[in-house]
Amino acid sequence: MAEPKENPLMEKIVSLCKRRGFVYQSSEIYGGINGFWDYGPLGAELKRNVKELWWNTMTREREDVVGLDATIIMSPAIWRASGHVDTFVDMMRECPLTRKRVRSDQVEEQSGTVYRWTGAESATTGWKVQKPFAVLQRKGEHPDSVRKKAREYYAHGAAAAQTGDWKQLGLQGETTAPVENSVDFHPESGVELSESRPFNLMFKTYVGPVESEENVAYLRPETAQAIFAQFKNVLDSTPVKVPFGIGQIGKAFRNEVTPRNFTFRSREFEQMELEFFIPPDEAIEALHGSVATIPAAGHPGEPQPNWGWEAWHRYWVEERVRFYEGIGLTRDTLGLHIQTPEELAHYARACTDILYKFPFSKRDEKGELKGEELEGIAARGDFDLSQHEEHSGKPLTVFDDELRATWGKVSDDKKKDMREKFVAHKTHVFVEKKKLPPEEAATAAQKEAQVFFDRFAKGQYIPHVIEPSAGVDRLILALISNAYYEDEMPDEKGKMQVRVVMKFHPRIAPIKVAVLPLLKNKPDLVTKAREIYSSLKGHFACFYDDGGAIGRRYRRQDEAGTPFCVTIDFDTLGEKGPELKDTVTLRYRDDGRQERVKASELLPLLLEKIR
Ligand code: ATP
Repeated sequence: MAEPKENPLMEKIVSLCKRRGFVYQSSEIYGGINGFWDYGPLGAELKRNVKELWWNTMTREREDVVGLDATIIMSPAIWRASGHVDTFVDMMRECPLTRKRVRSDQVEEQSGTVYRWTGAESATTGWKVQKPFAVLQRKGEHPDSVRKKAREYYAHGAAAAQTGDWKQLGLQGETTAPVENSVDFHPESGVELSESRPFNLMFKTYVGPVESEENVAYLRPETAQAIFAQFKNVLDSTPVKVPFGIGQIGKAFRNEVTPRNFTFRSREFEQMELEFFIPPDEAIEALHGSVATIPAAGHPGEPQPNWGWEAWHRYWVEERVRFYEGIGLTRDTLGLHIQTPEELAHYARACTDILYKFPFSKRDEKGELKGEELEGIAARGDFDLSQHEEHSGKPLTVFDDELRATWGKVSDDKKKDMREKFVAHKTHVFVEKKKLPPEEAATAAQKEAQVFFDRFAKGQYIPHVIEPSAGVDRLILALISNAYYEDEMPDEKGKMQVRVVMKFHPRIAPIKVAVLPLLKNKPDLVTKAREIYSSLKGHFACFYDDGGAIGRRYRRQDEAGTPFCVTIDFDTLGEKGPELKDTVTLRYRDDGRQERVKASELLPLLLEKIR
């Protein structure tokens, strides 16, 4: 089903983001810059909360994961080893008239009548050009308007003296034909696109004062490679032992051909990545007799020593889904895409994408939103560390004493069996993915097996890796989309009014509590409110607001997604009786419910609700 061009819900979300200070267009006062976004005061808090939660969940609360904070610019050798210099490309097509580019797999379908020409000629100067050009005439477009595009194209690059008045150029060999649902025309200009060409997505820069080829460096297109490059240092400087992980949060840059869907596909964004290193299954088999089998679906439970890559991969998929559930993205808003063998990279054993059903997501045949990738969890084998070992010349193996001792006791039959399985798997991959002829593939697989099992005998191996890789900005957009609600609530006069409310989970809400004195010109109320504000603000993000009618202040906080408002009124001062003295109104954002709470009990109560 085609994607609807206009998306009223997305428009409302984008407008709220600007109005309330979640997200602004970068450099907006200069007309903006495509694919770059800034986070305003509320967005900055939201982003910080999300990153902190990821960091705590993935590193601090685990004994088997440590953190890293590496540079954005690294040795270009890293990107050659990882394959990014050669293969980190998108296929793109260009509009020959406007030079605007689109990703080949993202051209929208269009219908109409295609006009084709073979060239153009000037009747006044005799100047001529011979090359094909085609434009789609879309519904409502006049043929003269498409012909004008053709004249503009043919005249481009030639001097006015040659072409004469370009608007008068004669077009040659005009033919027309109907076109249905074609992806060959630029969505804006309607001009037929060029052939697909690869386009490297890495941003280039120069290190040092000389802009020469040898000084080229890249802004990292992902944070993961730094983890592989520093693997040995982390291993040598901390007490970690395989299985263990290294997590990192940081900026990544991709010169996306078509940034789109608000912040979803940006050119500068942040990632939260974990590389979790595990022994190869052969080591588990040698040490434990066999590799654990896992249930057909669901979380496999607490990690076990006999887990192979499949159990670890499932474990991380389920852990990550639980993380999203813990911040308000319920399972029904998420989806899983299990990559097919054709989609998988040659080195990957499996990859599961966690999707979120954005308002702009495409729909399936039943009209259900399909969802877009928030995070990919890949089982990447030992590809990355092997590549870096090969390119750097530095060994990236780990040593396992127990494995060395056990390997000597493994029967020859078992060793033979393991080797045969290893060779069969590698041969299959080389034939299917690298398209090697079967004999060549078998020889290459035998060679790998030799190196692998020789190392094994010494208790050495290159760890395999499970990589949960998430985008911060996509998650923020998912959380904003998920939080957006419109409902009705009575105003001060009891009249029902439409309100916009951002129902963020309290854990990630930018502001947790707003403290509101009923009136700002009553010193006693203000003093009390300030006192309460001071007692809370050291514990979580609070906001003090004394401007305007109380109902309007509640609405403002609803739009900001503040889960709790604390109102200090005359009852708090004990003016209506001693029993209410030092109590405040606690108002709940989602249903507008209010309750009276002792000021002294506020902090523990709120801490409990925000946890
Ligand atoms: P896509 O297929 O959507 O381009 P990808 O598979 O190339 O994404 P990865 O290389 O696996 O993405 O990156 C891991 C995560 O980083 C993605 O799941 C996504 O959340 C985030 N990410 C990748 N590219 C972008 C981008 N251009 N803008 C925002 N986030 C991004």
